[in-house]
Order: sequence, then structure tokens, then C-alpha cells
Amino acid sequence: MMQKPVIAIVGRPNVGKSTLFNRIVGRYLAIVEDMPGVTRDRNYADCQWEGKQFLLVDTGGFEPETVDPMYLKMREQTTLAVEEADYIIFLMDGQDGLLPADLEVAQRLRASGKTVFYAVNKVDGERHEEMLTDFFRLGVERFHSLSAKHGSGFSDLLDEVAALLPEPPAESAGTAAEGAPERSVPRIAIIGRPNVGKSSFVNSLLGEDRMIVSPVSGTTRDAIDSLYTYYGKQYLLVDTAGIRSRGRISQGVEKYSVMRAMKSVGRCDVALVLLDASEGITEQDERIVGLAHEEGKGIIIILNKWDLVEDKEQAYKKFMDDVRLRLKFADYAPVLTISAVTRQRVTKVFDEIDRIVESRNRHIPTAELNRLFERITAHHEPPIYRGKRVKYYYVTQAGVRPPTFALFVNYPAGVHFSYTRYIENHLREAFDFYGTPLRIRARQRRAEQTAEERTEGAKKKKRTPSGRKKTR
Ligand code: GDP
Ligand code: GDP
Repeated sequence: MMQKPVIAIVGRPNVGKSTLFNRIVGRYLAIVEDMPGVTRDRNYADCQWEGKQFLLVDTGGFEPETVDPMYLKMREQTTLAVEEADYIIFLMDGQDGLLPADLEVAQRLRASGKTVFYAVNKVDGERHEEMLTDFFRLGVERFHSLSAKHGSGFSDLLDEVAALLPEPPAESAGTAAEGAPERSVPRIAIIGRPNVGKSSFVNSLLGEDRMIVSPVSGTTRDAIDSLYTYYGKQYLLVDTAGIRSRGRISQGVEKYSVMRAMKSVGRCDVALVLLDASEGITEQDERIVGLAHEEGKGIIIILNKWDLVEDKEQAYKKFMDDVRLRLKFADYAPVLTISAVTRQRVTKVFDEIDRIVESRNRHIPTAELNRLFERITAHHEPPIYRGKRVKYYYVTQAGVRPPTFALFVNYPAGVHFSYTRYIENHLREAFDFYGTPLRIRARQRRAEQTAEERTEGAKKKKRTPSGRKKTR
């Protein structure tokens, strides 16, 4: 449950930031592409390199839509990167040479004290050496030359970045780091767009001054969490310091809220996504809910500022329609209406959290699963895949948090999304999985397996840590 380090790619427009970004994450995005419902246009991604995990951000994608002078854009970008990122890849353009704007940014980055990797892109033509001499004027110890477009040099850069990243947590990372509260304390992230009321919510729980801090080790930047006690039970509110003291940029520019959300979501069990009830659901809200969903976290959708809503009954109905339409991929998430200001129903959130945490930890015995499975497959004609009938053999639960199931079939490729969705709905209903995504993965199994082999197989078949491939 370590906070993943954030790596930002910074540089002038057109130096090739998004080309580099796509090169690094391209493969991973292709893998998750088949998850419907979640917005795909993104400038950030969850990556792995040499087993190290990090969040990669293309700051170019956060450029304001207005036609600002270029240096203004860069200034914002750089400020953002310095504020939010742990490491920075500063990309320049070998074909343009070293420009004054580059020098200005380099200076700001150096002053920030962050670790910066300097890289010259578009080094793919004839005059390699000549191109690079200009960049020695930067006065940095080392820079990389690469071609994002053709793929040369970028893996050396990433090797160097990865070498500095923290080791992934051990498989048995169920216990808390030293000094941190016990792992059994649920971790709660409070996320949402700027001004939806996150810090008001935190303040309503903790009070303006009372803040019990617990530095969590194993993080790359100081994340201050707060322990909150409700009826004798503890909850760890993740990154409350960050929520309260938002930087100038991340406060003002809506798109940046995704970056902050990404970081805290990685460490939580349940994400409370705050929406502004007086504004309705925006695209940015969809993105933030999508993020928590993809990360496999428990989700509660919270309509804050409910005190401002006039015709509450009517508004609630409209909102629920909207939620079910626009946040359909997370239709398991409970929806609460609260007011952080009047504190109405604020603590009710914790009852929901308890229920979600419990169902995320639930493990269903294989025999029980298959009784259900036999019943539901009996009513469903198996599809044909490339002329063959797809056979569903059995299902086992491979993991918890989120509950993850392995569906054993003869042709995994023949299992359609609508079918796993069908099974998911039945699992939810039968075993009361509440407020959490479920994962169902089709796996190859031969037909002639004996019952004994099945149990063996079920024991051996553990979920891979993230289920994702390396981005190389
Ligand atoms: P951004 O504005 O920094 O995100 O830049 P883009 O990634 O959109 O790239 C700008 C242009 O540079 C595009 O036309 C790319 O195809 C081109 N480009 C990116 N990387 C390279 C490279 O390694 N070599 C060459 N020759 N062109 C590149
Ligand atoms: P954040 O950016 O998400 O942390 O939002 P803030 O907590 O700073 O709240 C933004 C604004 O909304 C502030 O002016 C708050 O007083 C106001 N606000 C927050 N929650 C509520 C609420 O429940 N009701 C009303 N009426 N205003 C709220």
C-alpha cells in the first residue's frame, strides 16, 4: 500500500512529451482498453518498469486551453511538476537546440531541489554529436539523448529512473510500516475536484486544529495521514495534510486534481469521491471515479453541499439518474448526500465504509461459488468462439481487496465482457459484495481435469501482484 512515486514529463510544446509518454505507457493502456465506460483520454498512467511502480504524468496534457504565451504555459507546467511530482523528466528538442525557455525551466527545476532527469529528444537524424554539443551549456552532469518516436534511448532513461525508485512492497505486505497504524485500520482517501468541499469535510471530522498525524514510511514525499476515531473504531484518512494545504496551482486548475487523487487512491481501501451537489456531475468527476474503479478500490459517491439544494426530492432523483448513467461502470458504489458545513450525515459515511471494507475482505469458498455458478450457467447458452463452443468449467476466488475471481474455461479469448458482467452481477447479489469493484479473469483450463487437480490448481493459482504486464 505504498504511495507510488509520481514522475512528470516537462518541456516546451512539441518537444515530444506525449510521444514519450505514449511510448512508455502505450502497451499498458492497450491492455486496459477493454474496460468499458471509463474515460480514455488521459495524460497520466499507472506504469511499471523493471518491477518498479510509478505514476507517469504528461504535463503537456494539462496545458490550459487558452492561447497563453508559451513561457506562461511552461511556468505553470513546471510549477505543477515541482509541486506534485517526485521526479521530473525534463525533455528538450535536439532539432531545435537549447532555447532560452529551456534554460529558464532548467534553472527553476534546479532550484526546486527535486531529482531531474534531463533528456534531449529527436536525436534520430544524422548529426547526433553536433546536436548534443549545444546542451552541454545546461551545465548538468548528465543528460540522455533519445528518440521517442523511434524508441531509441528511452529505455536507458527509464532504467536510470527506475534505479532510484523504491522497491515494490513485498508480497506479504499486509502489515503496516513501522510507526504506522495497524493494517487493519481502513485507509480512506478523500478525493474530488477543487472546491467540492474536501477540506471542509476533513475539517468537519477532525476540527480545524485537531490533527493526529502519522507519517507513513515508505513514501517518497511526505504524506501526512490522520487517524480518525468514530465509536471506538479507527480510520486512517490518507493525505489530509495535502487536502488542507493545497498548492496554488493544484487548487486553481481543475485538471490537476486528478494527479492528487491518483496519489492518494493508490494507498487507500475506500475512496470517498466528493461531488458538488449544486453543480452536478462533470467530466472530471467521471475521471476521478474511473480512477478509483480501475485501481480496484472501494468507492462511495458523496454529494456534498446538500444544504444548498432546493427541491431535494426532485434533485436527488435527477442526480441518481445521472449517476447511473455517467458513472455506470461504478454502479456498485453507494451514493450519500451530506453537508460538510452543517455536518449533516457526515458520520454516516463511516457505516458505509465498514460495510465496504468487510465485503472487500470477503472470501467465498470454492464449493459455494460453484453451486452458484452451476445454477447461473444452466440458464445461459455458451457462446461459440471460432467455431468451438466455449465451456465454463468452474470459478474460484483468487484474491481479496478487491475480490478477484478466476473463471476457468477452454477458450479465455471467447469469454465476452457481457458474460463476465453477468457473472459479476450474480456474485454481487448472492454474496452481498458492496461498494467495491470485482475482478473476474478468464483462465485457460483443459476439459479433462479431475476434481482433485482443480483444488490443487485453485490453491496454486495466485493473482499476480497487479495483473499487469511490464510496459516494455
Ligand atoms: P509535445 O507537445 O511535447 O507533447 O510533443 P508531441 O509528442 O506532440 O510531439 C511533437 C512532434 O514531434 C510530433 O510531430 C512528433 O511526431 C514529433 N516527435 C516526437 N518525438 C520525436 C522524435 O524522437 N523524433 C522526431 N523526429 N520527431 C519526434
Ligand atoms: P476543496 O477544494 O474540495 O477542499 O473544497 P473546500 O472545502 O475548500 O470548499 C470549497 C467551498 O465550498 C468553501 O467555500 C466551502 O465553505 C464550501 N463548502 C464546502 N462544503 C460545503 C457544504 O457542505 N455546504 C456549503 N453550503 N458549502 C460548502
